[in-house]
Order: sequence, then structure tokens, then C-alpha cells
Amino acid sequence: MGPAVYLDYNATVPIRPEVADAMAAALEVVGNPSSVHRFGRAARRLVEEAREKVAALVGARPAEVVLTSGGTEANNLALEGTGRARRLVSAIEHPSVLQAAGAELLPVDGDGVLDLTALNRMLAADRRPALVSAMLANNETGVIEPVAEAARIAHACGAILHSDAVQAAGRIAVDVRELGVDLLTLSAHKIGGPQGCGALVARQGVPLAALLRGGGQERGRRAGTENLAAIVGFGVAAELAGDRGDQPRLARLRDDLEARLRHRLPGLRVFGAGTPRLANTSCFAAPGIDSATQVMSLDLAGVAVSAGSACSSGKVRASHVLRAMGVPAEEAGSAIRVSFGWRSEAGHVGRLVEAWSALMERRAEALPAA
Ligand code: PLP
Repeated sequence: MGPAVYLDYNATVPIRPEVADAMAAALEVVGNPSSVHRFGRAARRLVEEAREKVAALVGARPAEVVLTSGGTEANNLALEGTGRARRLVSAIEHPSVLQAAGAELLPVDGDGVLDLTALNRMLAADRRPALVSAMLANNETGVIEPVAEAARIAHACGAILHSDAVQAAGRIAVDVRELGVDLLTLSAHKIGGPQGCGALVARQGVPLAALLRGGGQERGRRAGTENLAAIVGFGVAAELAGDRGDQPRLARLRDDLEARLRHRLPGLRVFGAGTPRLANTSCFAAPGIDSATQVMSLDLAGVAVSAGSACSSGKVRASHVLRAMGVPAEEAGSAIRVSFGWRSEAGHVGRLVEAWSALMERRAEALPAA
């Protein structure tokens, strides 16, 4: 069968060797970054160097970066820590945004693009202080959202804007000032860094109350001793992610995959194909076979992909993203996501196409003759 093929980079990216090396060295460092002695100061220097690299990736000031345990915590901090009376979130957000209590859902169109007219209307209808949360790129479809326009609309209505850029960072240009966002979420493990580390970028002047209290770390915005090795790894990953030179190659792999699947199944529906998408992501439906069965069959053939949204508890549900795009439940329930990254090769596309075609053939054989 050959070695297993990993095509699930939107779930997590294999750690970069440079990151692993830097983390191994950081594990040897003795010292709490809050201690005033030389050991503490050396650890603090490492944290601050990493913070500078993370800030540079998104055009932020180092003081605007709040280091967290990952994208989930950063999203919670943005949604809860800003204390806004209203939270308007796009219907395709990650659950860590979507599940904010009382959040009002903003619709998307059939390609999964945020409906800016609805945003304007909903903000104008109720002038209480609001936070809008619109992700920069969707984790399931790769669709790139009109965040700069959403920020302009939000500001014109006195609202602030948060953007989850977890999937966008390292894949498209992300600059907090050009986008005009007030808050932005990053996650280390989606850019080749370690799991369990991330950041919320909170622009100067945006009030943010800590969710975790009991220490003055992160300028009072996030208590707890810093995860030194992970933060060092995040810094190195952020530095590497600034070079997006691999994206055209990933786009070719993705386009080759879609062309070959369409050749096999001419009616294949690729979600978000009509609008700008991340170069590395393809989400498509194979009608008649549910997502979980496809993922398991492909896994047996040695190819790892995901069923629509990553199933955090091992359960696979029809994707809320596809449902928000108006995709019928049955079709949404047969969608899978393929995502490429730095270790992906042309041969991996061949392995997937072969395994998927075999699955389609078995399904055709199982269908009763017409
Ligand atoms: N936001 C998006 C768009 C994601 O895809 C993910 C992870 O799947 C997260 C947030 C959560 O990030 P983390 O795994 O670092 O908590």
C-alpha cells in the first residue's frame, strides 16, 4: 500500500523541523519568564522574541499580541473579553465563535461568502455596542471572506470587528491594519507550530478583559505562566509562514485533484469553487456515500482526509458551514475535505484519486441495476 498519505492540513499541519529543533532547545531553558533574576530574564527574552515574530506575520505591534493556548481560547477571549452587548457572527464560523451565548447569525451566500448587506441591515437595526466576528478563510471550504469590507461596515455602525485568521495565516496575506480589524485570532498548529498555542491580536485601544485571572501575564489580559517551548515554536513557525512561496504549487495539486475527480464523476460539486479560495483546500461531495464512510474507506486505503468539519469528539455531523450555504442535508452529509500543505506531493493526489475512484466503483456495483 505504501506509506500513509496525510491530506488533512486544515485539521493540523505537521510540525516544521525548524520548529521542533527550536522547541527542543527551549525545553532546556530554566526560568519562569516572570522571574526577575537572570534565568527569568532569559526566558522572558525568548517569549518576547517569539511575540515579535508573531506580530510581524500579521503587521501588528508586539504589545498587541496576547499569547493563548490556541485558536479556541483566542476566539473565546475576543467574543467574551470585549464585553459587547451584541455579538454578530457569520454562520460559518468555527464552533469556538459560533457557540458564544446569544450570538446572532449573519447569513452567507451559496458560495459561503458573508452577506454584507445583511450585516449592514442587522447592525443598523439595533445600535447597542456590537462585536462582529467574520473569519478570514473558512476551514472547511477554504473560501476567503470580505473581511476588510465587513470591518468598514462595522466601524461605520460603531461596532468592532474580530476575524478568525487561523486558516488564512501563512496561506494568504494577513495584515491587521490593511484589513482594518480590531481583533484577530491565530493558531500555531495551523502554520507548522505546536498544538496548544495561539494568539489574539487586540489592536491598541480595544478594551479586553481577561478570561483567565490570577496573574499579570500578557499585560493583564491572560493569566498563567507562559508555555515557553510552545511559544518559541510558534515564533519560528510564524517566521516561516511569512514565506508563502509554496502556495502556487499547492494550488496546482488542488486543481489537479479536482480535474481528475471531475473526470471520474462529471457532476462532482466542489463547494466554494466559484469564489476566491485558499490554494490548499478542496471540499466536495460524492453523492450517495456519507462522509464518515468515505473518510473511513480512504483511511483503510492509507489516505487521511476529513469529513467536512473536523470532528472534535470523533462524531461526524453534517457540516453547519455547508448547511449555511444552502446545501441540502443529504449532500452536505456526503462532503469530504482535502487539504494540502508543505509535505504534500503530486503522488499524494494520485493515491487519493485511486482510492476514491475504487470507492465510487464499489458504490456503483452495490446499486441495484436500473
Ligand atoms: N478557528 C478555525 C477556523 C479553526 O479551523 C480552528 C481549528 O480547527 C480553530 C479556530 C481552533 O484552533 P485551535 O485548534 O488552536 O484551538
